[in-house]
Amino acid sequence: MSVLIRGGRIITAADDYVADVYVEDETVSLIGESLDMSADKVIDASGKYVLPGLVDPHTHLDMPFGGTVTIDDVESGQTAAAFGGTTCHVDFIIQPQGSSFADALAEWRAKANGKQVIDMGYHMAVTDLEEGGTLEELASLPDEGITSYKLFMAYKGALMVDDETLFRTMEVASQTGALVMVHAENGDVIDVLVRQALEAGNTAPLYHALTRPPEAEGEATNRAIQLAHLAGAPLYVVHVTCREAVEPIARAREAGWDVWGETCTQYFFNSLDDIAKPDFEGAKYVYSPPVRDRANWDVLWNAVRSDALSAISTDHCAFLWDGQKTLGKDDFSKIPNGGPGLENRLHMIHEFGARAGRVSLNRMVELLATNPAKLFGLYPKKGTVAVGSDADLVVFDPDKKFTITAADQHSKTDYNLYEGTEVTGSPEVVLLRGNVLVEGDELVASPGVGQYVPRARFGQELRAKSAVA
Ligand SMILES: [Zn+2]
Repeated sequence: MSVLIRGGRIITAADDYVADVYVEDETVSLIGESLDMSADKVIDASGKYVLPGLVDPHTHLDMPFGGTVTIDDVESGQTAAAFGGTTCHVDFIIQPQGSSFADALAEWRAKANGKQVIDMGYHMAVTDLEEGGTLEELASLPDEGITSYKLFMAYKGALMVDDETLFRTMEVASQTGALVMVHAENGDVIDVLVRQALEAGNTAPLYHALTRPPEAEGEATNRAIQLAHLAGAPLYVVHVTCREAVEPIARAREAGWDVWGETCTQYFFNSLDDIAKPDFEGAKYVYSPPVRDRANWDVLWNAVRSDALSAISTDHCAFLWDGQKTLGKDDFSKIPNGGPGLENRLHMIHEFGARAGRVSLNRMVELLATNPAKLFGLYPKKGTVAVGSDADLVVFDPDKKFTITAADQHSKTDYNLYEGTEVTGSPEVVLLRGNVLVEGDELVASPGVGQYVPRARFGQELRAKSAVA
């Protein structure tokens, strides 16, 4: 199937120009002015932007957590992603403690089987390592295209690893060319603070935030940076929320260390005011690290502008408010941690980042697509508009008025973190490898069109098959 997109304003991390894009056999084969080609489908993109399909490096679909399972499976989560202009994501496999990585991978592949709407890769979350077993198996994961290891420094008694496991994983990564990712919060200290709060009778959602202070995030971020430097491994700190964590990342980057950080959409818009809402509404905003005070919003905008932070993900980890979050009605520590976000990342960052002048359109594309693709071994197959790249393309109408509301979303959850927010600018047509996924309000493609993408090792490029000589 061939597609011709006429007269759109092509915006990549580097460029901004008007041209036609011709797509053949799933890849972009020609870009030029007034292309005289016939195509099976012609899309008039005059007055519209043509963006690369966005890449979300941080999601949790169909994941058991906190005594329940996230409400979005691969099909509903990826459908939400497609409507938001995201055509590729990297989801977390969680190694059940004591299980082999091969078993965990098989379990996660089975969850995706036949349901995939967009392309996806996997990170492996390491929860324990055994000498003569999983420690050795870890080194073979990059051969399967799993080129990043994630470790939780928080969630004591569940997902948290000790510094030995953290450091040994970093040592393996330094040998295998994998990128180490950390959830950086000091889980031991948080555990103490949570127990003290509950003993004092403080059970409301607000105490989720008050027992996970910025210092706990700053300390763990700095510890991970120092240990990764010692092990010689590249490090990516997920969901950075506050000055205490931005500063050590910025210092390490100034020193030339292989350290990167991401933040997530919600940390620019939600705050302690939200989690303090009465009648358990605050539970909608229970995710970790927690919401911070509003002063950190500017810290984060400055960080993504200056490249102290290099990517914006969603950490989509959706639960129902009514029926799942309510597990913690009488005890904030039992509220499943996580929030939805896959559908509205581009809406929110375009409106309050690009349109508000906080980041350029080029930088927006870099934060939402190009840098995630580069850091996670998907570039230039994903993350840009270029000849030879996958034809993952978003025709974006910068003038379309759109109101964000749970009533119209494609995620299965019953609320939205940005409920009622009005934005100008929304995806109009979304293509995955030349297949029309979304057109207007319709999902055009059927589940099964998405594929697993084996990723390249850290720092290496990934090319579409047709582009490989
Ligand atoms: Zn996460």
